[in-house]
Amino acid sequence: MRSFLLPIAALTLAATLTAPAAAAPDDRISLVRVDASPEQVAALGLDAVDGTADVVLHGRADAEHLRQKGFRWHTLVADLTADAARTRAADAAYARSVAVSTLPSGRTAYRAFADYDTDLDRLASTYPKAARTFTLPHRTLENRTVRGLEISHDVAASAHKPVLVVTGVHHAREWPSSEVTLEFAYDLLKNDGTDARVTGLLDQLRVVVVPMVNPDGFAISRGLTYEMKRKNCRVRDGQLPGPGECAASANRSYGVDPNRNYGAAWGDNGSSANRGSETYRGAGPFSEPEVTNVRDLVSGLQATALISNHTYGEVVLRPAGPEEDLYSALGTRLSSANGYGSSALRVGGMTERWSYYATAGFGFTVEIGTGNFHPAFGPGVVDQYMGTGTRLGLRELYLRAAEAAADRTRHGVLTGSAPAGSTLRITKDFTLTTATGQPVPTHLESALTVPSGGRFTWDVNPSTRPAENGMLDESWTLTCAPPGKPVAVTTKVLVRRGQQVPVDLAACAA
Ligand SMILES: [Zn+2]
Repeated sequence: MRSFLLPIAALTLAATLTAPAAAAPDDRISLVRVDASPEQVAALGLDAVDGTADVVLHGRADAEHLRQKGFRWHTLVADLTADAARTRAADAAYARSVAVSTLPSGRTAYRAFADYDTDLDRLASTYPKAARTFTLPHRTLENRTVRGLEISHDVAASAHKPVLVVTGVHHAREWPSSEVTLEFAYDLLKNDGTDARVTGLLDQLRVVVVPMVNPDGFAISRGLTYEMKRKNCRVRDGQLPGPGECAASANRSYGVDPNRNYGAAWGDNGSSANRGSETYRGAGPFSEPEVTNVRDLVSGLQATALISNHTYGEVVLRPAGPEEDLYSALGTRLSSANGYGSSALRVGGMTERWSYYATAGFGFTVEIGTGNFHPAFGPGVVDQYMGTGTRLGLRELYLRAAEAAADRTRHGVLTGSAPAGSTLRITKDFTLTTATGQPVPTHLESALTVPSGGRFTWDVNPSTRPAENGMLDESWTLTCAPPGKPVAVTTKVLVRRGQQVPVDLAACAA
């Protein structure tokens, strides 16, 4: 493999040689590809596209930074904002020429901000037995709510099933990531009962979608106030932004990168301590409400698989870890559905680096498409979701993720008997550590009501927990409270990946 870092002596020369070609760096926002590895690019503190060697240069200073570090690059898009305006013209033409797309919703154009709430409510009211909306516990910095949809057969009685979590728009400008998340919800609900594969999956698991994790940022990008906005609205650490402050042009560079703010390996490579950086990690792990929302959601579910959607790069990313063979095989199975690549990426504070190290559920970042963060709707959303040629589309990728989430060889199962209506609860408490040595107390908790008949089968994540060097032999603490009574049984249950463990709860009936 070639070395990407030039020797020091060559740096000055390289900078001199590339100067004429790069003489245009001005205050336009451009997209460049650096001659370096994704990890080297991530370490620059610039606006890097995760898992690729592409970087968004926000004007002269960024280009100068790259030059001073001795890197070579070439320009992919000289003016991203102008490119996006051309894309909108293409979008308008597409929407005029196509009445209904092949997408599950039939949409022909990017949703506006308000369409997300409308669609979530529409799905829940059209499919009341199989879908219900929920609101995440924390309001955003600009006081918005974050909502999602839960999907399964008899969704109100599906707490025993394993869960696939799918999220979109951690990053504001990555519009396709929220589109495809919602399209997957449409897909499952519209095809339930007619498509055997979808119907079988909704028997076996719950799918939980949160299309828009970062609505404050999305409103600014989608509203074209600052179309290339990536982060959230944290203008100053620890403070709420004043009215209009986040959108003000003077504050464009501020905000926390929600996908660097999670509490596992927070502060590690690929995240910045500088609040003006596009990969600013925040004042501390889980300092941002958008991120504690996802943490609290995932900590209360048995999310045996998780997909965090982003654009772009055509790659499925996972954290490096102790179960690399199993994890990478699954990554390849997902990525091959749509002709994407698959790789492990060591970047601090990313969603699935936390979710895997906290819950042992297999999480992935899916970097959708190529060339821009929200390309024309036809190629950028319709083709990516439905597939073209030999590419089967994100649809197939997500269905494979759902199958993996339901596959009992990949997680654990608890079985037993207790009086019908008893409340079973499993909890775990442990401490994760940031790259800066800070402790991150972590609490996982899920509950189940024992069904009539008294027998339960509960799909859970392994109680054993991934650590850098192997799996830690930890247990779930399981409690049983008979209907209307206090906890009668507290017991420890060790369950490994692929194991089914019977639990003796006789004392709960006594
Ligand atoms: Zn992203």
